[in-house]
Amino acid sequence: MHNLLLHWKRFNWLLLVAPLMIACGRKEQAGYILTNAVLISADGQLDGDCVVMAGDTLAAIGWYRELKKYWKAAEVIDVKGSAVMPGWIDAHAHFYGLAVNMLSADLRGCESPEEVVERLMVFHSQNPGPWITGRGWDQNLWADGQYPGVEALDSAFPEVPVYLMRIDGHALWINSAAARQHGITGREQVSGGKIEVRNGRFAGVLVDEAMKLVQIPSPSVGDLLPQLQKAEQELFAAGVTSLTDAGLPRAVIEGLRDLYRSNQLRIGLNILAADDDETFEWLLTHGPIEEGELTVRGMKFYSDGALGSYGACLLKPYTDKPDHYGLLLRSPEYFISRFDKLRSYGLQVATHAIGDSANRLILRIYADLLKGYDQDQLRWRIEHCQVLHPVDIEYFKEFRIIPSVQPTHATSDMTWAPRRLGERLKTAYAYKSLLEAAGLLALGTDFPVEKISPIYTFYAATYRKNENHEPQGGFFGDQAISRLDAIRGMTRWAAYAMHQEHTRGDLRTGMLADLVVLDKNWLTCQAYEIPATRVQMTFKRGKPVYQSDER
Ligand SMILES: [Zn+2]
Repeated sequence: MHNLLLHWKRFNWLLLVAPLMIACGRKEQAGYILTNAVLISADGQLDGDCVVMAGDTLAAIGWYRELKKYWKAAEVIDVKGSAVMPGWIDAHAHFYGLAVNMLSADLRGCESPEEVVERLMVFHSQNPGPWITGRGWDQNLWADGQYPGVEALDSAFPEVPVYLMRIDGHALWINSAAARQHGITGREQVSGGKIEVRNGRFAGVLVDEAMKLVQIPSPSVGDLLPQLQKAEQELFAAGVTSLTDAGLPRAVIEGLRDLYRSNQLRIGLNILAADDDETFEWLLTHGPIEEGELTVRGMKFYSDGALGSYGACLLKPYTDKPDHYGLLLRSPEYFISRFDKLRSYGLQVATHAIGDSANRLILRIYADLLKGYDQDQLRWRIEHCQVLHPVDIEYFKEFRIIPSVQPTHATSDMTWAPRRLGERLKTAYAYKSLLEAAGLLALGTDFPVEKISPIYTFYAATYRKNENHEPQGGFFGDQAISRLDAIRGMTRWAAYAMHQEHTRGDLRTGMLADLVVLDKNWLTCQAYEIPATRVQMTFKRGKPVYQSDER
């Protein structure tokens, strides 16, 4: 009833004003008008072929033949039948990490420790510095599948400290020079972490909490401005107009806030604060922060590690490591006290949980704390939700917990995850079951762990295939979600997960004019065409921020 009234009021107003405007021949001034478009929102294809952007918002949506009577624009762009969608929102990614990575060697896809060393030599000759950082190695791609040792690094880099993060960010491979600098001998004991030792000596790899023994050198936020702007431009080119950065400490948040205040960055950036004492106290005092495109409304926690490095905490042992259950990174009491405090401040909690044991623990803690509270205001989330015991899925429904998942993780892990999980694989990466329980699914890429383009997220979510169309029939294809639900997960639901569904993630008048223009209609194109989709243009707040050369 309320809605009907509202519509009537709007309609009424148009009836009065539209003839007046025509009669006077006066047209409203818009910035850009897109015509000849297929309009796809979170509700499906809309009636119309045109969007009008005025200032930083969507001023009108409908048919050009009608709208042109009321609007004139600085530029009218014929998109020639392309699809126009709300700009994509990445619900879980690492924007700052992407910029930092531009200053470190890319080791993804290395097929041996020797190849890692070769790439580092090239990188170091092009980017000489007092230390070397790299990211992306994965021993699962190597012939022996074993963690590497210090020797390979030491022979090439005897003096320069080397710090190499595993692809999942849960294991660090360093050389002896770095170990010396931090006084690491291999005899240290770290709860929630592991130090690899061979023949009684430090063997080069630190897992999970043990990584904290090492302070990886890093530049300041201000120093990184060129990399941050490059990262932003790459995201615009990929159709991403907003994202949630999953976990940054206070100093980085404040540095980024300075860059936003001086208008040097403009992508929508919702930051989950990282879990450390200083950032925690700072967030309680200063949060939530809402300054235009920069928001901070919650905190990111880690309950366990990752599956690839045997860090995910499982209810039953790993199939390929029968005495090993993985690690819980903190005590339940720790999580309860932090979450309780954040709840009392009305702040969001987002917890990384991969293993079924970690997921169960966090879901139960959430359930206890959310009972009787305004769950829609708090919007607590679980990040990844990778391995779930089937009975635990109901928690998402009962307590309105948001599953924040990254479908490309399923298609990236599918070659080795069966070894780790065995039978449990059937209820892992179970995105459709999660959607059915929760009623929504916030989709993300987790770049730079995965590629930044949400096109692969869409394909993995809807067909459970990687960009090379593997495997045939999809990886547990029955867990595929519909195309429209995947679009919702990249727009409306991702916006909801960051408390911003009123300003972005949809094609509605009054919302921010954040748009992506595509050469394919995702509601009707052939499945195999999806990975080849091209972003033609991207608009942020009514301004073009990317245009492909092909247009
Ligand atoms: Zn992440």
